[in-house]
Amino acid sequence: MNPDQLKQQLQAIRNYYESGATRTLAFRKQQLQKLKAAIHQYEQPLYEALHKDLKRSAEESWVTELGVVMADINQALRNLRHWMQPQRVSTNLVNLPSASYILREPLGVVLIISPWNYPFQLLFAPMIGAIAAGNCIVLKPSELAPATAKVMNNIVREIFPPEYILYLEGDGAQLVPALMNNFRFNHVFYTGSTAVGKSIYQLAASQLVPVTLELGGKSPCVVESDANIQVAARRIAVTKFANAGQMCIAPDYVLVHTSKKAALIASLKEAIVSFYSASPAESYSYCKIINEKQFQRLIGYLSQGTIVHGGRNEISQLYIEPTILENVSPDSPLMKEEIFGPLLPVLTFNTLEEAKAIIQNNPDPLSFYIYTTDAKKEKEWLQAIPFGGGCVNNSGWHFTNHHLPFGGRGNSGIGKYHGKYSFEVFSNTKSVMKTPTWFDPAIKYPPFKGRLKLF
Ligand code: NAD
Repeated sequence: MNPDQLKQQLQAIRNYYESGATRTLAFRKQQLQKLKAAIHQYEQPLYEALHKDLKRSAEESWVTELGVVMADINQALRNLRHWMQPQRVSTNLVNLPSASYILREPLGVVLIISPWNYPFQLLFAPMIGAIAAGNCIVLKPSELAPATAKVMNNIVREIFPPEYILYLEGDGAQLVPALMNNFRFNHVFYTGSTAVGKSIYQLAASQLVPVTLELGGKSPCVVESDANIQVAARRIAVTKFANAGQMCIAPDYVLVHTSKKAALIASLKEAIVSFYSASPAESYSYCKIINEKQFQRLIGYLSQGTIVHGGRNEISQLYIEPTILENVSPDSPLMKEEIFGPLLPVLTFNTLEEAKAIIQNNPDPLSFYIYTTDAKKEKEWLQAIPFGGGCVNNSGWHFTNHHLPFGGRGNSGIGKYHGKYSFEVFSNTKSVMKTPTWFDPAIKYPPFKGRLKLF
């Protein structure tokens, strides 16, 4: 599509939005139902594409992608009528007998940009919120998961006209500025790296376009001296090594109380072998690294600590074994950059303050995990660390509960979504006060002299 065609296409979307066609409850529900049916129809091609891009099993893709999207669609279908109702709120004394309420209206034409690690879910879950809220949408998937991008393209083009939902593929560094500089979107919803998030924020700022930024970072995982070590190890390992660690909410590194380090490492090794066998390269359940660039980046980290488990790799298969490292310096790049792969540094601490100092080297993590059986420690940790979302005695699963708003803070993002929160992200709250005319006291009008502090 050349720049003129792109402009025309975007104008057609604006016109379609202005026609009001997307605003009714019936329209929105119909689109969600079409989407649900299409996902059922394309279930197998989606599994095959996700396997091609990431060597991920259908079972894991159901839990982390299709199942998450289906839960969001079902919840929106069940609750949309209620979400769209005007919301009555109280009126303060000075404004009585007025009535006050909040209307939720669509934002307009929104842009959704997604990454490659969960290429289906991270594009379609925000889209559900945008459809439910009555918007027109431009979708920009990642170019780095091409098989999944192709199936998603087929789905979108088959069920939605391009003046309602437009699916655009291409190199983000060129396509996104071309889109944002030539058209004023009403909202940009971006999921991806913090570095690119900053440039999207700048592009949006020049036109005062509001943004949601779902970014990355280093999510710490603390294991206290009183934790159930075997359970902790299994729950850390399953989230860290799912998708070969290419997960924004994976525990990036572990901080274990010194007294439990040996026990935790032994249990982590046991968990890895029981999940993926002694030879994960052949495991049905173990994924590959997305591409050579990411593979090389990850291999570079292997020399920044002592490998106590794993470390084997094979570039021709984009395979890196689940790996545990110790003796890692908090000043090494491994502890300064988001790992986003199957390498787990294990560091130790003796006091909360000591651990907190390490965590604060990378402030505002997207997620935080604390393993403890002591309610007092749990409270202390949850208060001590600023983070977007997290778990106690678990890792990552908060993401799959659509009743919890998901997102980061500061460096890890702006805004939260999932379930009803996705509807809210893509809606404008219009505050209205309605005042009857039968009561119109003179006291509300000038001259005001002598009425100080009357209200
Ligand atoms: P990325 O930032 O490289 O790419 C994301 C999207 O931005 C892609 O669609 C890409 O085409 C586009 N893009 C790339 N360069 C661009 C540019 N210069 N200008 C505009 N758009 C551009 O991210 P990625 O490598 O695909 O994903 C990995 C990152 O995403 C990790 O940091 C991870 O933590 C983060 N992530 C966050 C979440 C979350 O929910 N918070 C979820 C998944 C991934």
